[in-house]
Amino acid sequence: MNTKLLVNGKLVKGKGDDLGVLDPATGKVIVHVNEASEEQVIAAVKAAAKAFPAWSATVPKDRATLLYKLADRIEAEAEEFAKLESQNCGKPLPAALNDEIPAIADVFRFFAGACRVMTGSIAGEYLPGFTSMIRRDPVGVVASIAPWNYPLMMAAWKLAPALAAGNCVVLKPSEQTPLTALKLATICAELFPAGVVNILFGRGPSVGTPLVTQPEVAMISLTGSIATGEKILAGAANGTKRTHLELGGKAPVIVFDDADLESVVGGVRTFGFYNAGQDCTAACRIYAGPKIHDKLVAELSAAASSIKLGTQEEPGVEMGPLITAKQRSRVSGFVQRASEKRHIEITAGGKARSGAGFFYEPTVIAGARQSDEIVQKEVFGPVVSVTRFKDADQAIEWANDSDYGLASSVWTKDVGKAMKVASRLQYGCTWINTHFMLVSEMPHGGMKRSGYGKDLSVYALEDYTAVRHVMVKI
Ligand code: NAD
Repeated sequence: MNTKLLVNGKLVKGKGDDLGVLDPATGKVIVHVNEASEEQVIAAVKAAAKAFPAWSATVPKDRATLLYKLADRIEAEAEEFAKLESQNCGKPLPAALNDEIPAIADVFRFFAGACRVMTGSIAGEYLPGFTSMIRRDPVGVVASIAPWNYPLMMAAWKLAPALAAGNCVVLKPSEQTPLTALKLATICAELFPAGVVNILFGRGPSVGTPLVTQPEVAMISLTGSIATGEKILAGAANGTKRTHLELGGKAPVIVFDDADLESVVGGVRTFGFYNAGQDCTAACRIYAGPKIHDKLVAELSAAASSIKLGTQEEPGVEMGPLITAKQRSRVSGFVQRASEKRHIEITAGGKARSGAGFFYEPTVIAGARQSDEIVQKEVFGPVVSVTRFKDADQAIEWANDSDYGLASSVWTKDVGKAMKVASRLQYGCTWINTHFMLVSEMPHGGMKRSGYGKDLSVYALEDYTAVRHVMVKI
């Protein structure tokens, strides 16, 4: 297991504080890793800045070749990556191996191809005697900061478009879940020229802050909470740095009376509780039509109670623990406060599982009102609320009455109605009769306080490049 950081092409031991990295299913330390010292953060950024002129001058074909190699190595070492990820996050091993690793390899392959076929405005004479053309050039050194829920996938979402576009990157995974990023560091050390990819380890204040404030950092990419996003934005004003923010969600799921109940229940059972609900697109805020509401609550509660909770390699396990004891007590606080309201009924779960690890039962909360905290705030745990609406206008108004604007879904057999509702939702993504599905070709990103950076798709390549106009006098 690699515990060294990647700085300027070399694997080096961190010189900062020693932190224990936990297995959330047992609460025990897996390994100790030393954070980067401030000097190491500075060295990583300087190495990236030094590598930039040569890397940004490579042709897309050559960058693509390295990204394909990286994808191949991830696939070849899929079992080891998946084992580390599941141990460090508590995820069921089959989910890490069969859902995440193929999607991660695909992200690198998608951007390897996409950077070779970028399109734009045509060159031409817009003033007589002058030819104008558009270039899209890399931004420079990108500081990328990732969360703990899908550590390797978030590393892929950040590294692939930035590198494909010709930027150099200093990546900081979450201090809770560094193990797969550090394994990735060993492969990047072999494949990429020194300084093109640097991977650090450490907490926000000790490593994240010095990283994003370095003057050579031209762009900061964060997936994390609104609070961290706002701090980073304020800091980015100093140096007028470009920012790319993905900041959580509270996805509304609008279920009309004519929806196929079985699909809705099956869908929310999967998409509301996948990764123990620690997903910014989790189907967690249901608005149900007046006629389907009661049946939906009953069937969803039974379905949620049937989810098999367990450790990473238990046969048939569907849901693991939460990431930390702190996260579990945060989730439990939300449920406790909701349960104190007279109009609310906890119809499934509602408590932590006793014994080792940070397990929390899949929970369904019925009778929630629009103004309730459980409807308004991101829980980031296995908790789904259900609220009854009276008509489509009310459902849309409530769905949009949120700080967040990342993901949403609409469930109905009437495609025309679904399209109309989708056009009025203020969310980066709206799924119809499904939820949660991502593909490398389509963008993922938010509106409102969910942020504005786009991951995946050619839109991410646009985010990681600057549009430039070159004019020639003929
Ligand atoms: P967090 O904001 O606490 O931490 C995210 C990352 O930021 C970590 O690596 C952390 O060390 C770093 N960080 C914290 N303070 C910092 C600072 N001052 N300067 C620089 N870096 C700093 O979030 P988290 O608890 O790791 O993740 C959960 C949050 O992430 C949730 O709100 C979730 O919705 C969001 N999230 C969003 C998406 C998305 O695509 N929109 C995806 C996954 C998670």
